[in-house]
Amino acid sequence: MTSHKFIENTSEYLHKIASQALVIIPVGSVEQHGPHLPVGSDSYNVQQIAEMAAEKTQNKMILVAPTLWYGSSHHHLGFGGCMSLGGKTLLAVLCDLGNSLVTGGVKKIFFLNGHGGNRFMLREAAKELVNEYNNDVIIGSSDYWEIAREALADIKIKTPGHAGSFETALQMARDEKLVDYDAIKHLINGTKPDSKDYQYRIISQAERDQLRFQSLRSRGNINRKDAFVKAGGISEVPEFATRELGEQILTIVVDEVAKFFVEFWEHS
Ligand SMILES: [Zn+2]
Repeated sequence: MTSHKFIENTSEYLHKIASQALVIIPVGSVEQHGPHLPVGSDSYNVQQIAEMAAEKTQNKMILVAPTLWYGSSHHHLGFGGCMSLGGKTLLAVLCDLGNSLVTGGVKKIFFLNGHGGNRFMLREAAKELVNEYNNDVIIGSSDYWEIAREALADIKIKTPGHAGSFETALQMARDEKLVDYDAIKHLINGTKPDSKDYQYRIISQAERDQLRFQSLRSRGNINRKDAFVKAGGISEVPEFATRELGEQILTIVVDEVAKFFVEFWEHS
């Protein structure tokens, strides 16, 4: 019995196929996702997408390693429920995991990202790792939404945002029980639920955009420690999120990511 999930196989089998395999390492985060989504949202989503996409390829050489649940989320530490790795720690962890795989004979590795704050460390890890080896080792990285960006063009919502319509819809499709629909109603109506005092902020989208430097974002990377806390923890109100939309997004993303995996695997 072999499996797309790396950890369900024996070391003997993994050793045997290592040089032919493409190993995907999903990387997520544990951080606040507004008053309506669980802190594991990014990790849950990227894990589901990686596993469904690998399954879809029907290529037994494409394996999904266990998700790295922790990412670089220091910009969310002002909220509760955040567990973050500093950028340098994340880079070191990714390089150690990559080194372990290459030492075991793996020649193709791909870091699949589920959290914006990780992006540059994943790129850096891929670059640092390949510099250590011969040309037969190929390592890449991307965000799942970037892989699917063109295919998602018809879905006219902000992609991915943070705890907005896109991520909320995906979570609804994955496991509705973990979505607080009452909190979403209040976010849309601009009202405050009695049950949620903690850092719940009612602000206009214009104010939120201003706090998060929206007008400068496409041209530069601007940071301020309290930006997300002041903006109430979300990039926009998840007003368009439905389970159906989530299923639609998931289908598109899984298709595109599966195609990407196959193309990467075939590349010599
Ligand atoms: Zn997220």
